[in-house]
Amino acid sequence: MLQQVELYSALGKAEQNNLFIKLQEVYEKLPKTTCTGCATCCNWGSPPAFFIEYLNMYKHIRDNQKAEWPNIIKKSAEYFYLELVDRQQKCPFLNEDNQCSIYHVRPFSCRSYGLLSKEDFETGNRGLQQLAKKFKEEYDLVIPQEIIDYELPWCDKVVSDAGKFIEKSTLAGYVAQIGTLDCYFFSQDLVDQEGTLLPYPVHLANTILGSGARARKMKIMKQYTEGNRELLDSIMDKALSFHF
Ligand code: SF4
Ligand code: SF4
Repeated sequence: MLQQVELYSALGKAEQNNLFIKLQEVYEKLPKTTCTGCATCCNWGSPPAFFIEYLNMYKHIRDNQKAEWPNIIKKSAEYFYLELVDRQQKCPFLNEDNQCSIYHVRPFSCRSYGLLSKEDFETGNRGLQQLAKKFKEEYDLVIPQEIIDYELPWCDKVVSDAGKFIEKSTLAGYVAQIGTLDCYFFSQDLVDQEGTLLPYPVHLANTILGSGARARKMKIMKQYTEGNRELLDSIMDKALSFHF
């Protein structure tokens, strides 16, 4: 699990070193795209984001969408605890109109989705079969088969102003450039292993929920599958008391 990081000092370090500007420069290397907006990709789950992208999203919400913070923290905390036991969990930023509520700061994985050819696209399967086996054996916790099997499909509805797919190696180069920015906060080894490329709710848990809340994840999942939300709701109450 990613070490806990002090949020405010990380934000300060990012500002001092112009990391948000550098992140934007990488984003702008991607072609502009349009799609049908069906939100299939957003319903698959919370996409992976580098830590600097998490900070960028946090800053954007703090500066522009403060009123939405309670809803975001609630949906993110629920996702963090329940993604493996509740198929209804989806990206916390997908709003009621099936639109992205943080579109201008969405992470690279969302921006680049649909830009690879079908041959180059790697399935979004989360490799849950082994984890499901372990959970069943060690905790008697069942991950529903539909969650284990659910894969992010390749999308053929993205239209790019570059007019063609991006080379896989080019995309990997951009990913590496964003990873370099995470080296301001974590070791190069961890970044190279994509250990800082995590869903937004995991970053939120690492910076806001605290280690005690993270340690209760298994217990909360188990309670939830037994129809009990008591512990989840108590942690949610604490999470909602967090202020910028
Ligand atoms: S990228 Fe594809 S799957 Fe995602 S919203 Fe657009 S059309 Fe739908
Ligand atoms: S961040 Fe936005 S675009 Fe990306 S999955 Fe979530 S709702 Fe969709």
